[in-house]
Amino acid sequence: MDIHQRVTTARVLPDNGNNNGWYNLLPPPPPARRLGPRETTHWAIIGAGCCGLAVARQLAVHRPQDRIVLIDAERVGFGASGRNSGFMLNVHTHGMAKKLGIVRRNMRLWEGGLEDLRRLVATHQIQCDWSDWGRVYGAAGPEGEAHMAEVAQSYDRLGLAYRRLDRADMERHTGTSYYTMGIRAHGSALVQPAALMRGLAETLPANVDLYENCPVREIHHGNGFELVAAEGTVRAEKLILASGVFITDLDHCRNRIVPVATYASLTRPLTAKERAPFRDIDEFALLPTSPFGSTIRWMGDGRLLIRNGLTYEADKRFEPGDLSTARNLHRESVKRRWPLLAAVEFTDTWGGIMAFTRNDGAIFGKLGENVYGVVTSDISPVTRGTMAGKLLADYVVGADSELLRLQLGIPKAGLLPPDPLLRFAVNFQFRRIRASGALEV
Ligand SMILES: Cc1cc2nc3c(=O)[nH]c(=O)nc-3n(C[C@H](O)[C@H](O)[C@H](O)COP(=O)(O)OP(=O)(O)OC[C@H]3O[C@@H](n4cnc5c(N)ncnc54)[C@H](O)[C@@H]3O)c2cc1C
Repeated sequence: MDIHQRVTTARVLPDNGNNNGWYNLLPPPPPARRLGPRETTHWAIIGAGCCGLAVARQLAVHRPQDRIVLIDAERVGFGASGRNSGFMLNVHTHGMAKKLGIVRRNMRLWEGGLEDLRRLVATHQIQCDWSDWGRVYGAAGPEGEAHMAEVAQSYDRLGLAYRRLDRADMERHTGTSYYTMGIRAHGSALVQPAALMRGLAETLPANVDLYENCPVREIHHGNGFELVAAEGTVRAEKLILASGVFITDLDHCRNRIVPVATYASLTRPLTAKERAPFRDIDEFALLPTSPFGSTIRWMGDGRLLIRNGLTYEADKRFEPGDLSTARNLHRESVKRRWPLLAAVEFTDTWGGIMAFTRNDGAIFGKLGENVYGVVTSDISPVTRGTMAGKLLADYVVGADSELLRLQLGIPKAGLLPPDPLLRFAVNFQFRRIRASGALEV
């Protein structure tokens, strides 16, 4: 059979601009390995985010004699998995967790992903500022407090330990009296995400060959696959798509993923005087109860991270205008909490695209003859994606486990209407959530 029976052309290629504050804190990586003109491999994996790295690692364990080629359009750590807020979550809920059985199942998977990451970081001594500080949720007004009560109720029903915080406790944790109440929870971890991703890539098993800065522009299907990049081609027997939100651009899972951008800024290290509000605070990591609120981290190196803003981005790009709007929003958020820091510069502001689904569903498993796919989405995406990636490798080789059966129990991501209906529905939903979480921005 001819390999060129059918050709898929990537509609959109990843382009995260030139900024990612976490990545910029790292030393420049060694030059990326270059693709030869005609590579052949047993397995090709597109996408070296948390999912793709996890698939590659586990597949290499199952198939030590096989060659595994892992390809990414950008440098590892530059994509969504290396530009997030660094919360490695075991559980997370905005408001009331409605179906406890589902949350419990999900927690087993997310906790498994977290434990894998913890083990890999310890085993390979990955320098990614891993911290077990956990998280604090903060509410800043009546609506936030109502959400917080629901989070507490969910934790009670799930049997999760937490501590309620009043305004004074919140100030002791965060150095601001902005929050009226909160919840302190443990069990999740914090990382420098770009450093974690780079460390995971550097410690992949020897039969994985990683090619970065290598966007796959075409996939030729037939008796196997031929991936076409600018520098060369890769002929593979089996193909795994771990390309995140871009999976739809390789002609799979169309109308099942909502591309949503969110934005983060990092300050320069604060001066001794500016650190006054955080005098007795080594570290904190705050999640809002509203999805529209601000995620904030105060880190040991004297920097603040702030993340907020959600926009629907059908073309998976953020324009310079989006970034300056985000930067202004971040400045206002910092000023409201710590007026002393109103003028502190951000060294970086960046955006990233995430995948949302309609039903908290999954993209996982077989997508076609010898093609498999995994996309992480919604709640706890990095721990969730790390576990889903590992389990996909189990699935493709036919291994069985209780966790794999749990993963297979997650419903397929639901079908979505096309634009402009989807845009309208998402923006409508965003307006509604924004209104109920305005004080937490
Ligand atoms: C600002 C921000 C804050 C966030 N905070 C958190 C948080 O605190 N905790 C959390 O769990 N999650 C967080 N997230 C979400 C989380 O980072 C992502 O959902 C997750 O990393 C997605 O992982 P992935 O492996 O599915 O996709 P990605 O990390 O996007 O990896 C997919 C890879 O595929 C590559 N690719 C795509 N198409 C091609 C192609 N044609 N050729 C070659 N390569 C291709 C891309 O370059 C990319 O590197 C945040 C996201 C953002 C943007």
